[in-house]
Amino acid sequence: MAEALVRFEGVRKAYGPAASGYAVKQLDLSVEKGELLTLLGPSGSGKTTTLMMLAGFEQPSEGRIMLEGRDIARLPPHKRGIGVVFQSYALFPHMSVAENVAFPLEVRGIARAERAARVARALSMVRLENYGGRRPSQLSGGQQQRIALARAMVFEPPIVLLDEPLGALDKALREEMQYEIRALHQRLGLTMMYVTHDQAEALTLSDRIAVFEGGLVRQLAAPRRIYETPANAFVAGFVGENNRLPGRIIGSEGNITRVALDCGPVVEARIVDTGGAGDRCMVAIRPERIAVAPVEADDIGEGALPATLQEAIFQGDHIRLRLSIGQGGEILAKRSVGGGALPEPGGAAAVAWDAKHALAFAI
Ligand code: ADP
Ligand code: MG
Repeated sequence: MAEALVRFEGVRKAYGPAASGYAVKQLDLSVEKGELLTLLGPSGSGKTTTLMMLAGFEQPSEGRIMLEGRDIARLPPHKRGIGVVFQSYALFPHMSVAENVAFPLEVRGIARAERAARVARALSMVRLENYGGRRPSQLSGGQQQRIALARAMVFEPPIVLLDEPLGALDKALREEMQYEIRALHQRLGLTMMYVTHDQAEALTLSDRIAVFEGGLVRQLAAPRRIYETPANAFVAGFVGENNRLPGRIIGSEGNITRVALDCGPVVEARIVDTGGAGDRCMVAIRPERIAVAPVEADDIGEGALPATLQEAIFQGDHIRLRLSIGQGGEILAKRSVGGGALPEPGGAAAVAWDAKHALAFAI
């Protein structure tokens, strides 16, 4: 197997005395050449700390970081040759766009003619070839962030690090930029490490996602796998919407377990990481996996549960249904517009799902 481009090996980081806790508790993680790896997690989970240690602005307390097979512990940031883009664009306001993009080349002593050619190429990559003469203040937020990206790529670093680069942009522009970054990554074969707390952004952009919680990676996998087969209750709750129904295990057969939900009904679910009979667990079911029909409780088929439709909200491309089940249980379902009859709000309904789409997790 080819050597990974970057390897974190047993890395830990405490900002103060170790007794007061680690921002990164234990990190063994590789970034493969040409991939876009996203660090996804809530605020304070250790994503920026991880990125800063790779960039060289923070030192690990333990462990080592390898870049292209070399331990980089002793290299200062500017000798690592890594491109970095932060949420705040951090462009130099007194320089033109072209001068901003040329800056990393100047620091590296690249000759003027070569510099001009590379700046022109980098600006055309981010589709701003005609903006070289402007000042950053004359550009929109999205354009400034594209310049920051051009500046991070212009010296052809082995890896570009991006820390919440779209956080300051509005939703529409953020989505447009996500596709643009993805296209750049694919077209140029750029290796990128991308930090975000936005799970939809991570799903859109990434080749692989490392889900962080409390300074640990809780799952590392391709987006589809993270979404369809979360490894634990935290990932199931953090990535995408999920119904999370707490209960107690009655018994298991093969990889299917029977769970008595706290709200009353007994359901079957696929075992992900659960204990044995009597243990607490959480059953997670995606809203789009739940079928809803307008049926009286007497007519309900096997495996379906009686429910009451509380609310149906039209969302343009789908309808969100809020239903109650058992004693105080609540379920969210999504269905496409024109997906068949629904009960009136307050009316009786039946909800059903395939047991393979219900996942049981230890809690
Ligand atoms: P994220 O980027 O996932 O929001 P961070 O890596 O910024 O998380 O922070 C992880 C933990 O480390 C948090 O508890 C944060 O308060 C702490 N932390 C981050 N930077 C510093 C610092 N410079 N000094 C002390 N503590 C810090
Ligand atoms: Mg951060």
